Amino acid sequence: MDSNQVLAMKALPKSVVVIGGGVIGVEFAQFLIAMGTEVTIIEMLPGLVPGVDKEIATLLQKQLSATGVKVVTGAAVKGIAHKKTENTVTYTIGNKTETVTAEKVFLTVGRKPDFSLLSIDKVGVQHERGAIVVNEFMETNIPGIWAAGDVVGGIMLAHLASAEGECAVKNILGHREAMSYRAVPSCIYTTPEVASVGLTEEKAKEQGDIQVGRFP
Ligand SMILES: Cc1cc2nc3c(=O)[nH]c(=O)nc-3n(C[C@H](O)[C@H](O)[C@H](O)COP(=O)(O)OP(=O)(O)OC[C@H]3O[C@@H](n4cnc5c(N)ncnc54)[C@H](O)[C@@H]3O)c2cc1C
Repeated sequence: MDSNQVLAMKALPKSVVVIGGGVIGVEFAQFLIAMGTEVTIIEMLPGLVPGVDKEIATLLQKQLSATGVKVVTGAAVKGIAHKKTENTVTYTIGNKTETVTAEKVFLTVGRKPDFSLLSIDKVGVQHERGAIVVNEFMETNIPGIWAAGDVVGGIMLAHLASAEGECAVKNILGHREAMSYRAVPSCIYTTPEVASVGLTEEKAKEQGDIQVGRFP
């Protein structure tokens, strides 16, 4: 299932394997465990929600585990064997091959821009590696056609899409303003919610000495 199919389910599955521990994976895992479904997340990278501040990602992982979500990280999914009432997911961790069986498998990875209904090729709008190409003013190669949000690829998050949309509209209205990716906020709608803006602690450290403040 993808996220649309999960939201369209008429009955709760007894168990789910969530492939991918990014934003969508953790949000749905938390929702499904709260509804009484057994949940296993399988993530290829060493930790959940890649790109998020490590300390916060670790807290989120602990929170998920504390509520009963089984989190497997550093694990690469190799295949899914489908039977009528259950599915077995095979994954490897290092040299070891493991399996986990669940009623449903929820694939959260591999989202990509979808402009299939827009017939952009007919007007010659340039696209590369599955995303519409825009300049720093969010304008495509065809004057008067602008694009913003998921269709231009990159980080596909809601507040980034809004910021790009605002930038495009400002330029359409005649202001000359380049899109700035320096301080776009992002949110993950888990409990607790995770919000961030600007550099992560790890990235800031690469730029010199920093002070870290913690507020309960
Ligand atoms: C399950 C899930 C969970 C997510 N969780 C988060 C999260 O926690 N935090 C976060 O920041 N982001 C999250 N995202 C990502 C976020 O939803 C997207 O990045 C954001 O919605 C992108 O906005 P957009 O305006 O570019 O595209 P969309 O929100 O997809 O809007 C595009 C709109 O255009 C319409 N459309 C398409 N084709 C046509 C056409 N031919 N004519 C007219 N209309 C058309 C579509 O119906 C749609 O309404 C999540 C995404 C998913 C799928």
